[in-house]
Amino acid sequence: MFLQRSAVAVARRAAFSPVLRRTLATSAVRPTAPTTKFKRLSEVKTKDDLFGPGAATGTVPTDLEQSTGLERLEILGKIEGIDVFDMKPLDASRLGTLEDPILVRSAGDEQYCGCTGFPADSHEVIWLTTSRERPVERCPECGSVYKMEYVGPEEDAHAHDHGHGHDEHAWVEPKTWADHVKPSYW
Ligand SMILES: [Zn+2]
Repeated sequence: MFLQRSAVAVARRAAFSPVLRRTLATSAVRPTAPTTKFKRLSEVKTKDDLFGPGAATGTVPTDLEQSTGLERLEILGKIEGIDVFDMKPLDASRLGTLEDPILVRSAGDEQYCGCTGFPADSHEVIWLTTSRERPVERCPECGSVYKMEYVGPEEDAHAHDHGHGHDEHAWVEPKTWADHVKPSYW
């Protein structure tokens, strides 16, 4: 409705303004730019790669042109047929083992997964937290092993350092629930 009404208003104003009429005429014949440059999923290396090019002047931006961040990652994945966030249920056909864990794909720093054992629903759902720093988690009920597979953009490794240096014994602020587990339990 809004667009329709404003178009009528512009047309009405154009009738009285030769200048505006000329503007409308030129913009009508200008070809719409068909080239939208965007990165392929494999070219996404840092967060800076997750900005759209924006829309060509005078056009309404599409999601592909204007989306940013994780939303953009999802769209770029869809174009290539890759389900970035992997909303499919986890592999429930077996128990995960340390040698062959159930993979949990994640584009974020940590990923929760709910275990109900094998066969599925053989125990109450137990939520496990896998993270980039501690990708492997084992269900305390049935022993199934899960491993997070990071599929998000690569970042500078030092970005996570926060100036703590490389001293292993330095106190590091817990970032995920997995970090609250004493190292001796791992
Ligand atoms: Zn379990």
